[in-house]
Parts: sequence; structure tokens; C-alpha cells
Amino acid sequence: MKYKLTKTEKINPIEPPCKKTIYITQAEALEAIEHMKGIHRIELSTYQCSLCGYWHLTSKKK
Ligand SMILES: [Zn+2]
Repeated sequence: MKYKLTKTEKINPIEPPCKKTIYITQAEALEAIEHMKGIHRIELSTYQCSLCGYWHLTSKKK
């Protein structure tokens, strides 16, 4: 009895659907903002992505 998968879908859970930097928690994203503030002097905010479910940074536009 052979068991063979008919579907050969390539699903890699480690590879995120987004090319943006992913932060697992908002706290992590906020920490990154604090870090970048000191270097780039830019205003950033966090948002939860509907694609990957993780957090990304977005620049605030004035
Ligand atoms: Zn995402």
C-alpha cells in the first residue's frame, strides 16, 4: 500500500508573505521604532498586517 501526496504545494511557514520587516509582537515593533528614532530621526508607527498577522512599521506622513 503506497501513500502518495497528490498535492505538492510548497508551503513554508517560516517564509512570510510580506517583504517588510516582521515583528512578532507590537512590543517588538515599538522597540524597533525607539531604536530607529535615534538613528534616522523619523516618525514611525506600528500596524498589524492582515496578510501575515504580524506587525510592521509604517512611516507617519505629516
Ligand atoms: Zn505582513
